[in-house]
Amino acid sequence: MTVLIKGAGVAGLTAALELTRRRIAVEVMDAAETVGTGASNYAGGMLAPYCEREAAEEAVLTLGLSSADWWAEAVPGEVSRKGTLVIAAGRDSVELDRFASRTRGYEWVGGNTIGELEPDLAGRFDRALFFPEEAHLDPRKAMAGLYKTLVEKGVRFHLGSTEPPADTAFSAVVECTGAAAIDTTPGLRGVRGEMLFLETAEISFSRPIRLLHPRHPLYIVPREDHRFMVGATMIETDDDGPITARSVMEFLNAAYAVHPAFGEARLVETGVGVRPAFADNLPQVLEQEDGFSIAGMHRHGFLLAPAMAQQLADRICAGGHEQLYAQGALQ
Ligand SMILES: Cc1cc2nc3c(=O)[nH]c(=O)nc-3n(C[C@H](O)[C@H](O)[C@H](O)COP(=O)(O)OP(=O)(O)OC[C@H]3O[C@@H](n4cnc5c(N)ncnc54)[C@H](O)[C@@H]3O)c2cc1C
Repeated sequence: MTVLIKGAGVAGLTAALELTRRRIAVEVMDAAETVGTGASNYAGGMLAPYCEREAAEEAVLTLGLSSADWWAEAVPGEVSRKGTLVIAAGRDSVELDRFASRTRGYEWVGGNTIGELEPDLAGRFDRALFFPEEAHLDPRKAMAGLYKTLVEKGVRFHLGSTEPPADTAFSAVVECTGAAAIDTTPGLRGVRGEMLFLETAEISFSRPIRLLHPRHPLYIVPREDHRFMVGATMIETDDDGPITARSVMEFLNAAYAVHPAFGEARLVETGVGVRPAFADNLPQVLEQEDGFSIAGMHRHGFLLAPAMAQQLADRICAGGHEQLYAQGALQ
């Protein structure tokens, strides 16, 4: 007997791996032809519990602290542990103090250290916050890595389908359908996140750079091949239509303020993902008639998916869903 996971985004794939590790048979289905095409495809991949604490509940920090370790084990070689650098233009310097007052896990650094950490920012900013324990990964590579591992472990994938495969009797379903669950999950709403990729060989960063600004904060996450993910808006809507001209202009202005060489960068991709979120912006493992759902990952899908997957597996192993035992999926 087997558990069916519906949705092969970060929530579904992490849940699949965690259940597999506990010797529970799993199959995964997704409406899309490949894994990781939902909001997970557009994420920055920042594993930044301390920076996120600035605007999030303490639980985001506590649940997210071991995330980088989980990912490093799940997708070896994909986690970069270089920390996060938070900067602000001189006129917005008070934003750094405000940010610092709302979290912990940082060191104040001056111009010289900024230049040592990120040589391309040398001489451009006088002070910054450095969060040495934070990490980041490339979400697309992480999703591909999880998929490969799961296939190697014998997990069957049913892609391009919304109908459960007929040849297996599933003991329980775990819904991990992201924003698609908004219409059916009370209290779940959509938060639109726009992003773009810039490509330039003129700039190298080793870690995510967050630029604080009273209206248009942004972050820049370095990827391979001279690419930089620039994001992200937080707009209260589940509209997943194309990025707006305003957002593109604001991103490009802010990126230019971080380093003028971004003015010559190529704009190689834009994207929009809808983050599913509850009122407190914390994710939940919910019990359903036929199993569970993992919902409301908001802007912390990569940071918190490991903790939610472990909660799900704990509940299933602890008999949280009696039907699983009754039907023999678990011993
Ligand atoms: C611009 C942006 C930047 C972000 N940056 C970060 C970051 O730096 N760090 C971080 O931790 N988080 C970040 N996030 C948040 C993170 O991306 C989300 O929290 C996460 O991707 C949500 O994952 P999910 O698996 O719940 O949903 P999704 O990734 O949307 O996956 C849902 C899956 O379900 C499938 N599906 C839907 N309906 C069905 C159905 N009926 N049957 C079968 N399959 C179905 C979809 O095809 C999709 O593959 C960011 C988000 C955005 C938009």
